[in-house]
Amino acid sequence: MTKEKKSALQEKGGVSISEITNRKSIENLKQKRKVKLDAKTLLTDILQGDVAALSRGITLVESVNSKHIAIGNKLLKTCLPYANKSIRIGITGVPGVGKSTFIEAFGKHLTSQGKRVAVLAIDPTSSITKGSILGDKTRMEALVKDENAFIRPSPSGHSLGGVARKTRESIVLCEAAGFDIIIIETVGVGQSETTVHSMVDFFLLLKLSGAGDELQGIKRGIIEMADAIVINKADGDNEKKAKFAANEFSRALKLYPEKESKWSPKVSVCSALNHVGITLIWSMITDYICVTTKNGHFDIKRQKQNKFWLIQTIESQLKSDFFNQPKIKKALESQLILIENNHTTPFAAAEFLLKLKA
Ligand code: GDP
Repeated sequence: MTKEKKSALQEKGGVSISEITNRKSIENLKQKRKVKLDAKTLLTDILQGDVAALSRGITLVESVNSKHIAIGNKLLKTCLPYANKSIRIGITGVPGVGKSTFIEAFGKHLTSQGKRVAVLAIDPTSSITKGSILGDKTRMEALVKDENAFIRPSPSGHSLGGVARKTRESIVLCEAAGFDIIIIETVGVGQSETTVHSMVDFFLLLKLSGAGDELQGIKRGIIEMADAIVINKADGDNEKKAKFAANEFSRALKLYPEKESKWSPKVSVCSALNHVGITLIWSMITDYICVTTKNGHFDIKRQKQNKFWLIQTIESQLKSDFFNQPKIKKALESQLILIENNHTTPFAAAEFLLKLKA
């Protein structure tokens, strides 16, 4: 027989006080939830830096439910005047390079200086593997507990374009919630670095020291995008190798033409695990902000990014409007069969379908 725990607050034969309190708080919670799903209340709470409201706001903009999308759009519009005030930093590198260890050390360094840090992740692998490389691990445990940090893993199962659009919208909400630094993290898969590059002010590439031929196997274009290359795990036996790799990268970077921003990308080493080299990386980023603010490039880059995202948003909207029309869906199916049987060409089928659109 199980012995029932008696409480001094328990009333004989009735409902316990804790039960009543529980019920009340559930009711309160339900009530609160209901109220907070309207854009105006959410905005007020987000502007006060309420992270629960921020989470709810991001869930709304990530939603595919049309009612939620409508509230999300309203919320975004009202948050826009409060956006634009953070420093947006992109961090990329292959799985295992130490991104989460680095972001944890870097994030803690910033919060110890009184800054509020938001971490958003774009994980293109999630749509392919249905699991998330970024989300599966217990990551950034200390930062998660830090009240000045906000960490949001990426939604899984979306196309990279979809995830990226939501990430841009999430940046706006984080800025409205008063976050000073927004870190966008991604693994170096597919187009993900280009996507992240197009939404950040500073782009940091994390690398490991290799077998000496450091530039081998590096994806084309990534060096041009990087504002800094940081060789991580520069500790123990690896320290010497990391410094050697850093020298090699520095020499290679000198061969690249000067960037529009007039910023010459920096190379540095760090040990994210031992929190060594983190301060230097932050001062490198503040130097960058200083240089590009002075020469006007900081604003020019953000304007260019906004123009790029305007076109991207129109393209994706047109595409989804087209493919979601029932008559297009039906006609597309029959055109695909015709193609399979060599009864039409892709061009003729496309022309036919495009003429059908509303
Ligand atoms: P991610 O996949 O890029 O996010 O990499 P993680 O941050 O999860 O790190 C992968 C592994 O490398 C973990 O076992 C970390 O403890 C280790 N690691 C990360 N940074 C360092 C470092 O600076 N030095 C050493 N020795 N190990 C590190």
